[in-house]
Order: sequence, then structure tokens, then C-alpha cells
Amino acid sequence: MMPSPTTSEAKLSPKTLPEDHRWSLVTFKVEDKLYRVPRHGFTDFSSVFETMFSLPQADTTQEGDTDEAPIVLPSCTKVEFESLLRVMYPTAPRVRQVDLSKEHWLDVLKLATLWDMQEIQETAMTELEGLDLGQMEKIRLAKEYRVSKWLVEGLAGIVRTWGTSTTLDELGRELGWEVAARLLDLAVQFKPMKGTARLPAPTCPEQTCNKRHSLSSFPFEFKGDGTNPLQRLIGICSGCNKHFSVADIEISSAFPMGEDKLTEEIKVIFGEELKSMELHGIV
Ligand SMILES: [Zn+2]
Repeated sequence: MMPSPTTSEAKLSPKTLPEDHRWSLVTFKVEDKLYRVPRHGFTDFSSVFETMFSLPQADTTQEGDTDEAPIVLPSCTKVEFESLLRVMYPTAPRVRQVDLSKEHWLDVLKLATLWDMQEIQETAMTELEGLDLGQMEKIRLAKEYRVSKWLVEGLAGIVRTWGTSTTLDELGRELGWEVAARLLDLAVQFKPMKGTARLPAPTCPEQTCNKRHSLSSFPFEFKGDGTNPLQRLIGICSGCNKHFSVADIEISSAFPMGEDKLTEEIKVIFGEELKSMELHGIV
């Protein structure tokens, strides 16, 4: 997978230190195309290339020095490599915003993950997050590039929008039936309670107002937090514009688990998978 440098029997001399090579060029070969690019971007952004280029070299021509002896990169396509180059040059030593499509940012993420370019990885992730990834897509990418944050977000998103975004069949096919069943269980617990409360006409508690409201029924939605079955219904007084408590409603049986609890539960249920991602990935 990784490009391998020629490293035979070399002596380490000041000339071979990476600082001296900051602006030298290197030739890569991707598929049938040669790229002659500044080496510093690869050593600055990638620990893989930094290690490779800092290894002592033999006196003879080193791989990548000329077009005749390119470093072959078999693990990427021309399109992917060019996406990465657009992010890396000419903006070194910091990554600057460039305008790429979703597909090209995915190319960048792939290579940045492969070559351990953390800063570029994070930039690609931020860009992709702004490009409206679907929940299932987020999960797929999370697994492919070991982004545990996206796994949690994707799974939580499926639970949150249960019944509107993905069908149970799709989930079973994509994620396996055990995962689908666990998500269904969470969706049942997460589902907000909706209803209409009918109450005697409330009176504004504000002493200078005390307006009696004719309002006696209004819809409510209880999102819950999974620990407190109590919801306070708040109204706005049309006389003095202040919020006032209309009623306290206690849910006696099951009540929804809420956002924070949902994320917590997902982290517990999918703990092992998330842990293995964090060991290898970045977040
Ligand atoms: Zn009032």
C-alpha cells in the first residue's frame, strides 16, 4: 500500500536532512501519469511521507528524483490524487479553503487517511459535513475511513428520523439485522410524545397583568430526556408578553429518551466498533 523508498546502505549526512529538501521536487506516478510536485507538501502534511523522505538515502539516484524513476502510488487513482494536490498546493504550509465537489473531497479524505495527513483529513471532514451527507452515507463513510464521530451521528440521525429517512429493510441489508433491531428499539424509546392538552382557562400569574386567557387547549410535543417524566407546558401571555407556566404534565408510562441520552446509548451499544475506530482513526 505505502510507497517504499530506496534505503539501502545509506549514511546520514546533513545533506539528507528533510529541511534541505523542503523545496525539492519529487515525481510520483499514478496510473499512467507522472506528477512532478514540490516535496514539502507531502512531508509537511503526511507522517507517512515524512518518514519515507527522512530515511537515509543511497548516493545513487533516489526514487522520485527524476521522471525516469518515479515513486509509484498504486493505491490511488489520478482523479483522487489530483483532488489532493488541489488542496495541498499552492497553499503550503497551511491548508486553505478550496472549492471542491463532494466526490473530490471524498478523494482527499481517502488519501489523507491512507497517508496519515491529519490536518487535511480534518479539513476534508469539515468540508464534507457542510455538504449534507445522508445518514446512511455518513455511516458508510465512517466505517470506510474510521470516523467514529460520523458513525454516532449517522446512527443517531436514523433513530431521530425513524420512519421518514430509511426503511427497516434498507437498514437490515446495509447494517445487518441485529443493528437494525437495536436502532428500532432506540427509535421506540426516542419518539417524542405528541398530543393536545385541554386545560381550564389559565390566568397570567404576573400581578400587574392577571389576564385570564380563553385559551384552553393547545398542542404539545414532549421530547423528554429519558430521565425526567415531567414536562412543563409554557404559554406566552398575550396581555404582558411574559412566559408563564400553564401546567405540569407527568408522563406515567414510557417517556422519550432525548438527544443526549440517545447519543449516550449509541456510544454504549456500538462501543466496541467505535473503540476500534478510535485506535486506528483520528476521531
Ligand atoms: Zn400577563
